[in-house]
Amino acid sequence: MAHVPLTVQASSPESEITLVDEQGHFILKGTGEIHTSLLPGKIYIQIGGVAYPLDLKESSVFEEPSSNREDWEEYSGRNINEPTITLEYFISRRQCPACQVGVLVGRRDPVTLEMLTEDNCLLCGQPVEYESLGVYG
Ligand SMILES: [Zn+2]
Repeated sequence: MAHVPLTVQASSPESEITLVDEQGHFILKGTGEIHTSLLPGKIYIQIGGVAYPLDLKESSVFEEPSSNREDWEEYSGRNINEPTITLEYFISRRQCPACQVGVLVGRRDPVTLEMLTEDNCLLCGQPVEYESLGVYG
């Protein structure tokens, strides 16, 4: 398979950008902006504490989305009663698939501290379930 060019632009030139694969394994790190080429596939782009999913198929430019206070007020708790979304893997601080603004940080059993497969978006409350906890399980 041929490599695909990818450019990642953070909203601040000081922001650290980390690319990881689907299971959370490290690929590449940079600051402010990254130009690279990767094999096609699903990756996560971690910027400013949020992991944005990207299905890399062709030459792509990814810009860090900006979120603001109004978004937070608009989305707060609104997906709490929505049907559960199943996700293949747990990735720390993944961008919420429902509201695209909140993040998923994972949940642990309060007694055993084991990672749980059920989770909720910190912002909109969207319930999700992980098929695999990957490297975190
Ligand atoms: Zn959400």
